[in-house]
Amino acid sequence: MKNFLSKTAREIAPYTAGEQPADRQYVKLNTNENPYPPSPEALKAYRDYDFSSLKLYPPLEMRALREAIAAAEGVGAENVFCGNGSDEILALCFPAFFDADGEGAAFADVTYSFYPVFAEFFKIPKKILPLEEDFSLDLKKLTQTPAQGVIVANPNAPTGIGIPLGEIEAFVQENSGRVVILDEAYMPFFDQSAVPLTKKYDNLVVVKTFSKGYSLAGMRCGYAVADPALISGLERCRDCFNSYPVDRVCQAVCAAAIGDKAYYDRVNALVISERERLSRALASLGFTVLPSKANFVFAKHAALSGREVYEALRARGVLVRHFQKPRISEYCRITVGSREENDALLRALGEFIQ
Ligand code: PMP
Repeated sequence: MKNFLSKTAREIAPYTAGEQPADRQYVKLNTNENPYPPSPEALKAYRDYDFSSLKLYPPLEMRALREAIAAAEGVGAENVFCGNGSDEILALCFPAFFDADGEGAAFADVTYSFYPVFAEFFKIPKKILPLEEDFSLDLKKLTQTPAQGVIVANPNAPTGIGIPLGEIEAFVQENSGRVVILDEAYMPFFDQSAVPLTKKYDNLVVVKTFSKGYSLAGMRCGYAVADPALISGLERCRDCFNSYPVDRVCQAVCAAAIGDKAYYDRVNALVISERERLSRALASLGFTVLPSKANFVFAKHAALSGREVYEALRARGVLVRHFQKPRISEYCRITVGSREENDALLRALGEFIQ
């Protein structure tokens, strides 16, 4: 039979999202969602929404949402771009800022595994820099890596390691001749955002999401903050795919969520304090836990393989993420859940390890 698929569709290895098995109720600690519900303001915006307006396409310019984001971030609405999850924005960064016949996109060997997929999909050369032995990123080496632009997740995934803002600023400055994309999906748990630097540096794009810090993973909304010249590149590429990536309800809900800073601060402080408790408890069970600034921890056990830990937990109704990949196959990435969920994980681990 003739194969009608393109070479790309036939050959690309797509990103694999965390599993969602339906055979039983799991304690789900495998996709870095926030354990707390969205802000009451966001839920109210949803309930009060005039659903009859859904017959119309969403506001093309997303003015109200972009203004709400701009107000919260201390930038202008012209500096904000919104998309259907930060994944979509990160994807658009590749055609917007890299050429297929250019020097390529530089990023770490152990980082968000969507970056190499985007590069492959858009046929952009990959320049991969190995992280150090301790999984830290040597920014000097990244600066020295020839590429059209660089992409850094801060805090990094799946390691959870964060880079302080001072080091990021020096890096952005040293790379002033090329674009620097910072993926700050996990910044709500670190508080060293580089958004203020976008006013000073015209080569910087900061990408954020409502999925983690705002407990709205199910809404699918993210945003980028940058100089308007970079924003226009994202807009032009978006308009080659989909003029309306963020639906009406989503625009209203996210605008309300970002206006409720008190709630955001409160729930994310709870996640951070649980992260510290979980890290200590895992260490006392024989795990090495990388110092996390995210809402997950990356941990390996002294006597058990990553796969064994993953499978033992799954059999006991707890899902964590295991990557069968070079350098990290001994680790599991464990989302910080609620106190009860973390206790369930620790109980299951204690039982197995004994
Ligand atoms: N960046 C990183 C590092 C992530 O781990 C994720 C979540 N998988 C995303 C971006 C994308 O998040 P979303 O599309 O939900 O905004």
